[in-house]
Amino acid sequence: MDEGTARSITILGVIVIVIFVVVSQAFPSLNLALSFTGIFSGIILLLFGLNKIADYAIKPAEGGIQVSYQPPPQQYITPYSQVPQVKYCPRCGAINRYDAQFCPYCDYKFSS
Ligand SMILES: [Zn+2]
Repeated sequence: MDEGTARSITILGVIVIVIFVVVSQAFPSLNLALSFTGIFSGIILLLFGLNKIADYAIKPAEGGIQVSYQPPPQQYITPYSQVPQVKYCPRCGAINRYDAQFCPYCDYKFSS
């Protein structure tokens, strides 16, 4: 059932209620049980239609909103092999290249 059908059922329920109220007022001799049955049927239709409309109001339309997770592009992640590897000078504590032969700050000779 689509939203239009639900609205039609709601409107039909209102029409049924109005018709039976008007008819029962216009013809007081009409069977009272019949009038109440008609009005009750209209109320049922009205509530059913409103319930369906409420469903459409709450639930998003199918395929309307799609949020998909996209992982970050791979090239933005620095592989471990490309992480700069350093070593600390044991004499002055300066950070040097891993393949440095001498510490440029204190001329300490690294023994490899
Ligand atoms: Zn040093």
